[in-house]
Amino acid sequence: MEPQREWFEKDYYKTLGVAEDASASDIAKAYRKLAKKLHPDANGGDSAVEERFKEVASAYDVLGDASKRKSYDEVRRLGPMAGAFGPGRAGPGGGFNVNFDQMGDLGDLFGNMFGRRRNTAAQRGADIETEVKLDFADAVSGTTIAVPVTGEARCRKCEGLGAEPPAKPRSCGACAGTGVNDENQGLFSFSRPCGACAGRGNVIDDPCRACRGRGVENRRREVKARIPAGVKDGQRIKLSGRGAAGHSIGAKPGDLYVRVHVKPHRTFGRDGKNLTLSVPVTFSEAALGAQIPVPTLDGSTVTIRIPPGTETGRRLRIPASPATGGADLIVEVEVVVPQNLSDEQRAALEALAAAGGEDPRAHLKT
Ligand SMILES: [Zn+2]
Ligand SMILES: [Zn+2]
Repeated sequence: MEPQREWFEKDYYKTLGVAEDASASDIAKAYRKLAKKLHPDANGGDSAVEERFKEVASAYDVLGDASKRKSYDEVRRLGPMAGAFGPGRAGPGGGFNVNFDQMGDLGDLFGNMFGRRRNTAAQRGADIETEVKLDFADAVSGTTIAVPVTGEARCRKCEGLGAEPPAKPRSCGACAGTGVNDENQGLFSFSRPCGACAGRGNVIDDPCRACRGRGVENRRREVKARIPAGVKDGQRIKLSGRGAAGHSIGAKPGDLYVRVHVKPHRTFGRDGKNLTLSVPVTFSEAALGAQIPVPTLDGSTVTIRIPPGTETGRRLRIPASPATGGADLIVEVEVVVPQNLSDEQRAALEALAAAGGEDPRAHLKT
């Protein structure tokens, strides 16, 4: 197991309730006792207890293993200085570094934790969020659209290098291209951004006239975005690396987030990936059964069979096809009660009532 950053933050001895010089068997005993008490099976899914159980387990994972415990103790001995190691604190402005190479095994340990990358002025491009409006049918079946994006893009003249073509940037001699200069202080060193190249690691003798050496320009561009079938209104689609261009050579671009707005349809609704459609039927159609034409997404019609005795709210599925935009069409039957009866209709219904039939309220009778 690699040493974890959380070793700095967590006191595993405290978690297990043992002294720092506790013997291996004391640690095992303390762990078994806690594990028994906190085990999820014994606590009916109490999430706070479950969290504590996990902490105890990860504490024992380290302290229960002699070599891991040794590394953990070493890390904790350096604890008070640990805060200075975080890469977040030693940003491009330079800062406090560890000479990993002079630290033997422990050096490897820190090297793995924080990475050996040097500070440079390389700056990842910004993330960009943009919005698009999508037709209902495109949202159902998926589509590819051109998303207009405005922001920092790679300079087209110098291709992001920052030098006036055909010149190219050259590696900085003062810092051997690393962007930082070190001042040795024994085990540790202080690093400063290289003054000769302002931390970039390279020097541009003749800056690009289009972008003044920045390598990026503000412009409008179009990004092709694949919109998956069944996309929901308000859903955000991430396009990795398609955001703003990074500053300076080797800097990664940001990500592009496309928020999709789906225009509602006047006839169809959606339920997850399915299309939905409410279809009114008359009482006679519901009772006797019927073949009913229903519209599909592409304007054609498909005939569905309403079985005799269909009740209101019954859902019938029409399998996906090109006509339904590749989605299943769920038809919900709605039995309509006539509002204005002609004399003839009234007579027919009265005859139906007089003929008797099943009592729909039989189950309510005592
Ligand atoms: Zn340029
Ligand atoms: Zn330099």
